[in-house]
Amino acid sequence: MIYLPTRIFFGKAALAEAAGQIAVLGNRALIVTGKSSAVESGALADLLPILADKGIPYSIFSEISENPDTLQIMAGKAKMVSEGCDFVIGIGGGSPLDAAKAISLAAANDLSQDQLYDADMRRKAFPIVAIATTHGTGSELTPYSVLTDASSRRKAGFGSELIFPKIAIIDPAYTLTTSPKVSLNTSIDALSHLLEGIYSTQRSPLLFPMIFRGIKLIRDHLELCLKEPQNMRAREALCLASMYGGIAIAHTSTTLQHSIGYPFTTQFGIPHGLANGMFMEVIMRFYAPVIKDELDALFTYLGCDMESFLGWLDKFPIKVRVPADDAQLRAWIPQILAARNTVISPVQPSAEELFTILKNVQKEGS
Ligand code: NAP
Ligand code: FE
Repeated sequence: MIYLPTRIFFGKAALAEAAGQIAVLGNRALIVTGKSSAVESGALADLLPILADKGIPYSIFSEISENPDTLQIMAGKAKMVSEGCDFVIGIGGGSPLDAAKAISLAAANDLSQDQLYDADMRRKAFPIVAIATTHGTGSELTPYSVLTDASSRRKAGFGSELIFPKIAIIDPAYTLTTSPKVSLNTSIDALSHLLEGIYSTQRSPLLFPMIFRGIKLIRDHLELCLKEPQNMRAREALCLASMYGGIAIAHTSTTLQHSIGYPFTTQFGIPHGLANGMFMEVIMRFYAPVIKDELDALFTYLGCDMESFLGWLDKFPIKVRVPADDAQLRAWIPQILAARNTVISPVQPSAEELFTILKNVQKEGS
């Protein structure tokens, strides 16, 4: 089954094309952004005249950091309520987009910080428009929001159909200003989503044509994008791949490949995509025996075998090592094993297997 209630506008001038659809979503918009990407990407400059033209007033909340935490969501909710906004427009990478979704839920249901992860408290949401400025998370068309719990400092996602954006805007021009590091890390996140669409026990062959194409687009364009950041053809390809990755995980969710990286992001500040990339090879090797048919189909499509694919992946600086000692790695095992995305992995690792996987990213001497 494929279900996607988001209208996707893709390509040059996608935002202008969506203007009429945006205008009917509400009477006052809360625009949710990070510190500078909404301006740097050019997306905000495109949006404001559209809102002016349609007579829609707005407030801007630009306090979202990378890996947004629940305190920021509460501050956004307060602004949304006090300014009487009735729909949300997120502009950014996954961080502002996930925050926009959570703010919409928090304001619509009057949630407290402790209730953000409580599925029973979610009855409605204000409409969400998501304007992507990175080619990574696919958050503009997923029902997920990944937050850091401000009390425990744990990073964890939740899903609710209520927060599927009504409208996703994917204009590759907005990604031209991402730094080489963000371009790489976000592309690796998209690659991870695509692979996890195959790995997940909720996988569906209906999605495989998109997934295979997305992986090929990344394999064929990532180096070009890093060499020539202004290359529009490469950016378009990576945006398409990221969109396919989002559509995949909207249906299959992510797996251990994601949950394993979260503590490395919160503890060592490793950007999300890179935290997936650190484990990409070891997880593929771990899963490969039980999803052999699916991976065979993928590599036949790509015209290579797993080893040459992993050889290609090795060209990128994603095998980060961290100074975590054995005790620290072992302390994370229960939370990784209990994560909802670990549970839908094709193989459930034992605690000892997981420890062996984690040891791969340990700096020598730690
Ligand atoms: P991000 O955290 O949104 O942004 C990373 C950095 O890139 C920030 O400094 C940001 O600046 C900057 N940036 C973004 N777009 C830019 C542009 N066009 N030009 C210049 N700088 C730009 O990165 P992300 O990888 O897209 O999102 C990661 C988050 O998404 C994580 O929290 C992850 O867990 C989550 N995620 C969510 C889903 C989902 O389905 N909801 C899936 C995977 C991951 P600003 O600070 O100014 O914005
Ligand atoms: Fe991700």
